[in-house]
Amino acid sequence: MAKVVAFRRPSLKDKARGRTLCKSGFHKWQIDQKKQFDVQQGKLVTIRRCSRCGETRTTLD
Ligand SMILES: [Zn+2]
Repeated sequence: MAKVVAFRRPSLKDKARGRTLCKSGFHKWQIDQKKQFDVQQGKLVTIRRCSRCGETRTTLD
């Protein structure tokens, strides 16, 4: 069972900092869906989503 992290409303400063990091390419990737079959690539991929800006990417690991 994963440890539950208490909900914390980020301050405006934190949000701005997060966006800056995302713009610089430092996204906070978290696994969104494990081992989906990507038809375009013909492979199993892991879908990751940035918890700050919501951008997604797929990886082959
Ligand atoms: Zn991001």
